[in-house]
Amino acid sequence: MPARRRIVIAIGGNAIKPPSAPPEGGRPLWELLDQTATQIAQLARRGDQVVVIHGNGPQVGTLLLAHEAAGGSPALTLDVAGAETQGQLGYLIQQTLGNRLRGLGSTWTTAGLITQVVVDGNDRAFAAPTKPIGIEYNAAQAASFERSRGWDMREVHPGRWRRVVASPRPLDIVEMGAIEALLAAGVIPIVAGGGGIPVIRDGAALSGIEAVIDKDLSAQLVAMNLRADTLAVLTDVDRAYLDFESQDPRPLDRLTVAEGWRYLRDGHFPPGSMGPKVEACLRFIEGGGQRAAIAALPKAQGAADCLTGTVFTA
Ligand code: ADP
Ligand code: MG
Repeated sequence: MPARRRIVIAIGGNAIKPPSAPPEGGRPLWELLDQTATQIAQLARRGDQVVVIHGNGPQVGTLLLAHEAAGGSPALTLDVAGAETQGQLGYLIQQTLGNRLRGLGSTWTTAGLITQVVVDGNDRAFAAPTKPIGIEYNAAQAASFERSRGWDMREVHPGRWRRVVASPRPLDIVEMGAIEALLAAGVIPIVAGGGGIPVIRDGAALSGIEAVIDKDLSAQLVAMNLRADTLAVLTDVDRAYLDFESQDPRPLDRLTVAEGWRYLRDGHFPPGSMGPKVEACLRFIEGGGQRAAIAALPKAQGAADCLTGTVFTA
């Protein structure tokens, strides 16, 4: 394995949610992150440059719930909610990873970076919001929120409604220069948490917008901008499967780009979960990246070396 590689590691938000509440025993988030942090520290120790991205689905859900319980007014907009979870998870990764780096005597340090990601206000996603967020409501509540808050509501199960928001494509990472500068200064940046804070550009000015960006696609954009060698997407399953929901799911160890697009088109990887991970890996390889892998959260090092999980090759 050549030394001094650039590796972008994406950590799934669902993989770092504590397992359901006691009596099953909710483990604190930092404990769930520690094994991954240990392995990222080892990558840095051996000379690799690492950039970390994390999801925030469950965490932002909890935040919106708490806000609703507190009356919901003034509205907690999704850009601000995204920023809050970047702080929450950024802190936890910064601390666990920092502890491990110091423990190994590494010269690397780490820091979370509040990251804005530009989307197109005319993205088709805004005309047809699809991403459910927050809690379920009954039909009367849904109709009332549609009127009073301008929310788009969708019936997710008979009689149960959720708010849906747009999930536009990430176009530009605003803080890209800061990410490069941190890496050059020996700092492992934790960036674009939750896919980044969605903003739109009006001339030189940026402003937040109600949307949720898929973190796997943002990870791919960061990896491309950095000309990274490797994209490692860590989640709560050990690899991508064919016929995942069937009696006989078939694990995928290696995938060519052509196979990947074909299986994606054939519906093996649904939008909003495995789909964007596979798409991110395929686009990364097509854009000149050397390796990409989808693997389980505790397998950060194996995934970065493409020794475990589903590995994508050119
Ligand atoms: P993350 O928070 O890591 O982004 P997601 O829930 O978005 O996690 O995506 C991972 C989930 O995708 C897995 O828990 C699994 O239930 C689901 N999934 C759907 N299709 C597949 C598939 N073909 N292979 C593996 N996992 C799949
Ligand atoms: Mg996801």
